[in-house]
Amino acid sequence: MNNHEHDSIDILIVGAGISGAVSARLLAEKGKSVLVIDKRNHIGGNCYDYTDENGINIHQYGPHIFRTDSEEIWQFLSRFTSWQKYTHKVRAAINDKEVPIPFNFTSIDILFDAQKAKNFKEKLISKYSENNKVPILELKKSDDKDLQKLAVFIYEKVFYHYTLKQWGFKPEELSGDTLTRVPIYTSYYDGYFTEKYQTIPKHSYTKMFENILNHPNIKIQLNTEFKNLKNIKYKKIFYSGPIDEYFNYKLGPLPYRSLNFEFKTLPQKQFQNVAVVNYTGQEPYTRITEFKHFLNQKNEKTTIVYEYPSAFELGKNERYYPIPKQENEQLYKKYLQLAEKEKNIYFIGRLGEYKYYSMQSAIAAIFELFKELNPV
Ligand SMILES: Cc1cc2nc3c(=O)[nH]c(=O)nc-3n(C[C@H](O)[C@H](O)[C@H](O)COP(=O)(O)OP(=O)(O)OC[C@H]3O[C@@H](n4cnc5c(N)ncnc54)[C@H](O)[C@@H]3O)c2cc1C
Repeated sequence: MNNHEHDSIDILIVGAGISGAVSARLLAEKGKSVLVIDKRNHIGGNCYDYTDENGINIHQYGPHIFRTDSEEIWQFLSRFTSWQKYTHKVRAAINDKEVPIPFNFTSIDILFDAQKAKNFKEKLISKYSENNKVPILELKKSDDKDLQKLAVFIYEKVFYHYTLKQWGFKPEELSGDTLTRVPIYTSYYDGYFTEKYQTIPKHSYTKMFENILNHPNIKIQLNTEFKNLKNIKYKKIFYSGPIDEYFNYKLGPLPYRSLNFEFKTLPQKQFQNVAVVNYTGQEPYTRITEFKHFLNQKNEKTTIVYEYPSAFELGKNERYYPIPKQENEQLYKKYLQLAEKEKNIYFIGRLGEYKYYSMQSAIAAIFELFKELNPV
C-alpha cells in the first residue's frame, strides 16, 4: 500500500476506519476511482491492531470483538479475512468476587446464599422463562418484591458506578436506551454476546483492512487531514470524520467521551481468566483487558490495558463515544440539517453520524446507504 499522487478522482473518502474502508471497497467494485485519506498514520480507524515486541496482538484503541447475526455482513467480511472463533466472556469484580457479566445464574449463585439464589432463579424462570434475556429496567418494574430487590442490587453493583465512570453522568441523566440495553440472562449462559458469529480476524484487524482496501481503484493517503488536502478534484465525498468539525463547530461542539489507555506488559503467562474484567466500583478504571485471550496466544509474557474514561478535550485526546443524552442528539440533528443542504457529500460512521456504532452496525449503515444511492 503506497501513498500516491492523484489529482482527479471520482470519490474522496475521509477516514480509513470500517465505514470508510467498506465504502471504498463497494465504490471501487462499482468501477469508481477512490482516494481514502486518514489523519492518522494507519488504516483501520479504532479497529487498528498490531503485534507488540512479545508477539502479542494488541488492539490499540481498546478491545474489539466482531459479532453479527447478518449473513450479508458475515459473507462480505469473510472475503477479506479468515476468523478465529471466540466467545467473548466478561467478568465483573463485585464484593471481592468475580462474576459473569451480563448477570446470569452463575452470578446469582456466587453472590447469594443457596436459598436466596434458588428463590431468585425460580422466580426469574417462572416470570420470564428459561434462556431468556431480560433488561434490568424491566426487572425493576416487576411486581415481585424479590425480583425488584435483585434488580436494585444489579443496578447498584454492576451499573451505577460503571456508568458514572464510563460517561461522567448518572444512569438516569442519560438517554433511555442506555439502561434498557443492560440485560440479565435467565440461564447459565456466560457469553457476553448472543450473536451467531462472534470472532476475531485470525491475522489481525489491520490485515483485514489491508485486504478490504487492496483494489486497483483504491489509493490511500495517510497522515492527511481533510482540511489540509489540496489540489485534488473529486465528484463526491464520503466523510467519516466528525460532522461538527466539518462545519467548524458553528452550532457548538458535539460532546464525546474519551479514554486513556494504560498498557502494561507483565513477566507472566496470564493475568486474568478471561479477556475482559469490568470494574464496577470506585476504582478509576472501568475495565482491564488481557489481549492474548482473543487469538489464544501462548506467549511467556502478557500485555494488559487499563481503560480510564475521561472527558473529550479537543486537540488533547480522541473522541471515542458520542454521549447518549437527548440534548446531544438534538444538536446532532441540527448538524444533520446543515448536512442535508450540502451537495455531493455523505456523512457516514460513528463520527459522521454521531452514533454509538459497533462494527456490524457501521457496516449495516453503509450497506443501507448504498442501497439508497444505487447507482452512486
Ligand atoms: C474502546 C472501544 C471498544 C470498541 N469495541 C467494539 C467491539 O468490541 N465490537 C464492535 O463491533 N465495535 C466496537 N467498537 C466500535 C468500533 O470501534 C466502531 O464501530 C468503528 O470503529 C466505527 O468505524 P468508523 O469508520 O465509523 O469510525 P472510526 O474507526 O473512528 O474511523 C474514523 C477515521 O476517520 C479519521 N478521521 C477523522 N477525522 C478526519 C479528518 N478530518 N481528516 C482525515 N481523517 C479523519 C480518523 O482518524 C479515523 O481513523 C469499540 C469502540 C471503542 C472506542
